[in-house]
Amino acid sequence: MTHPIVPITVAYGDGIGPEIMRATLKVLEAAGAQIAPETIEIGEKVYLSGQTNGIQASSWGSLRRTKVFLKAPITTPQGGGYKSLNVSMRKALGLYANIRPCISYAPFVKTKHPIMDLVIVRENEEDLYAGIEHRQTEDVYQCLKLITRPGCERIVRYAFEYAKQQNRKRVTCFVKDNIMKLTDGLFHQIFKDIAAQYPEIQHDSMIVDIGAARVADTPEDFDVLVMPNLYGDIISDVAAQIAGSVGMAGSANIGDQCAMFEAIHGSAPDISGKNIANPSALLHGAIQMLSHIGQNDIAEKIHHAWLVTLEQGLHTADIYKQGQSNTLLGTVEFADAVIANLGQSPKQLKAPSYEGSKPLKLPVVGYKKPCKKELVGIDIFLQWQDGVPKKLGDKLVNYGTAQLELKLITNRGVKVWPEGFPETYCVDHWRCRFMSPTMQLSFDEVLNVQSRLHEAGFDVVKTENLYNFNGEPGYAAVHG
Ligand code: NAD
Repeated sequence: MTHPIVPITVAYGDGIGPEIMRATLKVLEAAGAQIAPETIEIGEKVYLSGQTNGIQASSWGSLRRTKVFLKAPITTPQGGGYKSLNVSMRKALGLYANIRPCISYAPFVKTKHPIMDLVIVRENEEDLYAGIEHRQTEDVYQCLKLITRPGCERIVRYAFEYAKQQNRKRVTCFVKDNIMKLTDGLFHQIFKDIAAQYPEIQHDSMIVDIGAARVADTPEDFDVLVMPNLYGDIISDVAAQIAGSVGMAGSANIGDQCAMFEAIHGSAPDISGKNIANPSALLHGAIQMLSHIGQNDIAEKIHHAWLVTLEQGLHTADIYKQGQSNTLLGTVEFADAVIANLGQSPKQLKAPSYEGSKPLKLPVVGYKKPCKKELVGIDIFLQWQDGVPKKLGDKLVNYGTAQLELKLITNRGVKVWPEGFPETYCVDHWRCRFMSPTMQLSFDEVLNVQSRLHEAGFDVVKTENLYNFNGEPGYAAVHG
């Protein structure tokens, strides 16, 4: 099959990045991939030159032009001020879906889980990765967890459409909505709503902690998993490692306009420059890329040759086991072995077919009908050093008004006034909930109470408006 040459952007990254990228591109070239790589510089050198986001402004031009990025891992320098390039890249290019297949290759690669073939569909832009963090008091720091309706709808629909295209049978959702009832609750509700539109695909949900334990114990029970960003980040590393090695799992970051392909692992500085890194994870990212740009036959040819190489026991150090492997190979030699096997198919391992794989086209997420939104109260956060809740409550109650009454005070989310427990440990950060008795409140009244508190010497560090949406509280109830 002939293909037009597709320009792609390539970054060699840091640590083992250049070694595994050279090996990967060598395999792609030998397999006849029709690509025209444009190289950009990202990572440590760029960070240390003073560019705090790790990428030169000029490199975005190449990414916008090619819309396809094959990226080796990079090192984010330690210390404040440096923004994670991976996170910025995913958000700037709108790469909302992160697809991470984790497969075991028993009996050729040692694993406790010989039957494992799962795909983690990780939400890629939201959650705690919004990077909105504040220090609010001497003792308290916060990180905002943002979960949006369009974000949930896109990733959950992606998971079901992916399952449908790849003939997978089941989609499982991991959330923690027993605790985060609004944010993870939204993700879960949208999962249930969208699942109902795919009756041919089974679905179920688990609380993420037991879900993670089950992935680590019985990964053969899972097929496609969909979850918010942080859980997906952690559980995909666990899944890749228990399949055999983090050095074998690739990852596709997919958006409506652009896509980025990479290894799931980092720059592995501990083994860099030694020609011992496994290039397989990046090679798998590249295979996903070839399928994305319509070169399914080449993707399949490389994937099959790679499986043959595993079957031959030609292994890099991370998966080499005496008695089980045949020959220990370096990065370069492993790539050469894959090249030598191009055109062959595996005898025992399942040979994947890429026929029919193509980028998923998802419907644009529509706007919802606006809700009736009513301001009904306010949470005012104060820094206050005297740790006795009763003292604060007794003082503060005088600063409410007829339209906005102090109802309760919490410390780290636990109610401490009225009638708290003397055992509760309190820090210098107090959430004071004022509610409208009539559930009808003007914003002027909110400002009035804040001003009165400020004038009385209270240190107001933050406020959150409390709204009802169509009569339903848009704020969490209080513990205790
Ligand atoms: P890591 O994934 O780089 O390494 C973890 C362990 O796995 C190390 O022992 C390493 O030797 C091994 N390993 C990783 N890839 C391997 C491969 N291909 N072959 C054989 N062994 C391999 O994680 P880390 O050490 O926590 O992070 C190192 C750096 O990578 C940090 O600066 C981190 O910020 C960065 N990082 C980058 C990305 C990315 O660019 N996508 C992702 C994660 C971490």
